[in-house]
Amino acid sequence: MTESDLHKQLRPLIRDRLGALMRNPVRAPGITCTTCLTPLPAPDCRVCRECHRQSMSGWPLADRVVPLTYSAQRRQADRDMYEYKSRAPGQQASNDAWQRLSLLIAGFTLWHTDCLDAVSHHPVTTAVTVPSLRGRRGPHPLDELAAYLPRTWRPTALNAIRTSADHRERRALNPAHFKVVESAAVRRRHVVVVEDTWVTGGHAQSAAAALRLSGAAEVTVLPLARRLSATFQDNVSFLADQVDGGQEYTIDICPVTGDACP
Ligand SMILES: [Zn+2]
Ligand SMILES: [Zn+2]
Repeated sequence: MTESDLHKQLRPLIRDRLGALMRNPVRAPGITCTTCLTPLPAPDCRVCRECHRQSMSGWPLADRVVPLTYSAQRRQADRDMYEYKSRAPGQQASNDAWQRLSLLIAGFTLWHTDCLDAVSHHPVTTAVTVPSLRGRRGPHPLDELAAYLPRTWRPTALNAIRTSADHRERRALNPAHFKVVESAAVRRRHVVVVEDTWVTGGHAQSAAAALRLSGAAEVTVLPLARRLSATFQDNVSFLADQVDGGQEYTIDICPVTGDACP
């Protein structure tokens, strides 16, 4: 790929602003879950417990999950996933977390949009952001960040139709949590589901299932961050080796392949 002037301007900015704080997700069978890229409990597993449970549900799930960074609990990348929402709409320019996440998405858009099409059966045409199930009022800040996604991805809407006070119920895999507003906009399409943080995946996979049940041909979940718990036993050595002691974030590792661009 030849680098445009915009690539040349963004590359040092991404290195300086994201390098020390973000971490490229690791795609390594036997080490990380082939679905959500969390560390595996044992090398003979293919997917983590949660992804295994979801795959047994019988619901049609996402074809692939492409997190842009890890966000390890108690590190700045994880705080960013909350702090980016802390300003009123239109007041984000001075919010450091907002700036980092917009740079993360802009980097994906500029370097790796074509990579997703290259590994897909259908080129991406459509994008939805996952609405909050907590009944937040007004536009979600994630919708504002979505402005940095590729212009060729036509936005369409999902409505959150069941809110619950119980956070386990909100995280449960259930396509009835979401309603596709315009079925014609997703039918036979490759739809990208944009989510801020993948914790258990219940939220994003419920949205993926709702889209597939409305006729989407292919669904990719694009979490800005795959959250890693700091207390979960399987994560301890991975956090030390790959996150705290790991390589700085680089735009040159493709989030679609975990390696070179396809
Ligand atoms: Zn998983
Ligand atoms: Zn790529």
